[in-house]
Amino acid sequence: MRIRLDRTLCDGFGICARHAPGHFSLDDWGYASLEGDGTVTPADRDGVLRALLDCPVHAITVLRDPESSSPAIPSGDSRAATPASAEARDGGPGR
Ligand code: SF4
Repeated sequence: MRIRLDRTLCDGFGICARHAPGHFSLDDWGYASLEGDGTVTPADRDGVLRALLDCPVHAITVLRDPESSSPAIPSGDSRAATPASAEARDGGPGR
């Protein structure tokens, strides 16, 4: 898995560095930088996904593996379930 950090979105909350300190560092003002090239080992995956999910400005994204047909984020992720997809799954609004 590879991730990307959009520093133009970062608002300096520092949550990512708390969850995955090996992948994110903070500058003196609390703004994050990505450590390394964004490659996440399986051992670090949970912490990085936690950082991604908790980032209030959605500055962290998972890069899709062009050789993989699996979704970038596991389907159990709350971001994967939009209201529209929930309606489609449940048979439409009001059901
Ligand atoms: S959690 Fe998001 S907003 Fe906060 S420091 Fe990390 S990238 Fe920036």
